[in-house]
Amino acid sequence: MNMHNFPHRPYFFDEGLRFSCCGCGSCCTGDPGAVYLSNEEAACIAFALELALDEFYKCYTRNLHGKCSLQERHDGSCIFYDNGCTIYPVRPGQCRTYPFWFSILRSPERWRRESRYCPGIGRGKLHAKEEILSLLQGNDTSRT
Ligand code: SF4
Ligand code: SF4
Repeated sequence: MNMHNFPHRPYFFDEGLRFSCCGCGSCCTGDPGAVYLSNEEAACIAFALELALDEFYKCYTRNLHGKCSLQERHDGSCIFYDNGCTIYPVRPGQCRTYPFWFSILRSPERWRRESRYCPGIGRGKLHAKEEILSLLQGNDTSRT
């Protein structure tokens, strides 16, 4: 059962949440993690890189917990991070919707805790509840 099934119930973010990315790169580097992507997202990135899909899968992805994830370097950084995201226009939905993930929006405490990791949380643009629920739709992912 997901939050976006109940747009009319109250949430701690009924008045919206502030978030503006400052481009620190913290979410693309550091501790090992997962950046899952769908077949459609893989096809978009492969197309942007002018690669055959099977070549893209072989060179840039790995199987993680039975799902397709982007590879990362030994230091934990994403294979596509180089002083910023090198595939920004076609980055996976998981990246596009961060930090508005179900796992992070479970509670105000969880949201606040994430701000220790992401300096963009709690500052900048105010995102309305409707926008947040829309971002949640179809993206109930969580960092592992
Ligand atoms: S950690 Fe937050 S502020 Fe830093 S790059 Fe990621 S989304 Fe942007
Ligand atoms: S695809 Fe881009 S935005 Fe997503 S983790 Fe990799 S470098 Fe960061």
